[in-house]
Amino acid sequence: MAYQTTQGIVLRRSDYRDNDRVLTLLTPERGRVDVTARGCRKPKSPLLAASDLFAMGEYVLYRGKGHEMITGCELTDSFYPLRTDITLLSHASLMLSAAEAVAQREEPAEHLFLLLGRSLARLSYGQGDPEPVTAAYLLHLMGIAGYRPDLSVCAQCGQVLAEGDAAHLVPEPAGLICPDCLRSARPNLSYDTLAWLREVQTRGIDKTHLPPQNDALAPLLVYAQHHLERRLPAIMGHDAPV
Ligand SMILES: [Zn+2]
Repeated sequence: MAYQTTQGIVLRRSDYRDNDRVLTLLTPERGRVDVTARGCRKPKSPLLAASDLFAMGEYVLYRGKGHEMITGCELTDSFYPLRTDITLLSHASLMLSAAEAVAQREEPAEHLFLLLGRSLARLSYGQGDPEPVTAAYLLHLMGIAGYRPDLSVCAQCGQVLAEGDAAHLVPEPAGLICPDCLRSARPNLSYDTLAWLREVQTRGIDKTHLPPQNDALAPLLVYAQHHLERRLPAIMGHDAPV
């Protein structure tokens, strides 16, 4: 079959020739797909909006002898507010880069596609702080990538964390370190934030209230960057993870 219609989100775009672009799409059925959008940079091209970063839509793809091409697109959302706020843009760019690291070519990525689409929508149209949105995104993304941290036991001694305990999220051994194993070091997640992350993990972010503190994102960035083996783009107002 030469033509295929698929949902997609533009993860990456690079200009090609005079008016073309090569796009990397995240699709539910085929994971990461590279496609050419011919003539999309002409001002009147019907593919202009569909070939921009973050664009989400129903893409019609054609596979001929050469590169796979986009022949049409019905845009679902361009997530326009992301383009008007540099902080939101930095959060959204990090989400794309992390999704690109997890998605494989020609491997279904339904859960990842849903997670990215919903998280971009929450960043664009949610009224609140973007930090918990990105923290929740990274927590779920790590689960999809096979690095779901266990938020109830210590990864070092195996003890179940006590009610009220703060803990330290570390990439190796992947998970939490309890106060006993930490000794005098300061934990990077408060008890309240841990309780919030557990709720996000089991119930999804739609069903959770906002976290009481914003201490989840920094340790999750370190955790994600380690397991994805990729330096993620910096977030405005946040130090780059090391
Ligand atoms: Zn321990």
